[in-house]
Amino acid sequence: MVKSCLECGEKIIGREDKKFCSDGCRNAYNNKMNKDSNNIMRNINNKLRKNYRILAELNTDGKSKITRTKLLSKGFDFEFFTNILKTKTGNTYYFLYDQGYMLLENDMYILVRKDN
Ligand SMILES: [Zn+2]
Repeated sequence: MVKSCLECGEKIIGREDKKFCSDGCRNAYNNKMNKDSNNIMRNINNKLRKNYRILAELNTDGKSKITRTKLLSKGFDFEFFTNILKTKTGNTYYFLYDQGYMLLENDMYILVRKDN
């Protein structure tokens, strides 16, 4: 069976398990793959950082109440958080690192900060 280079499509001569015709093609291919995942990670990290900044900015005394509207107006994105904490009493906190929030009612959220 004739194999072809994953990068340029050239026929590969040599060992059976080779995937690239040259080191140059292997590097180019790997760089492209890394770049794709780096872009995804960068975008997500930016969203996490932004969410974190918003919470830290609004939660100045370690425990504040805030409306959903206010969070959204700051650009908060509820789809991005770092972890979820479920308490024994059935409450669910969403965290961005050490900054967390929980839905109260009527569009109100409580902001909390995790103690180290
Ligand atoms: Zn090649």
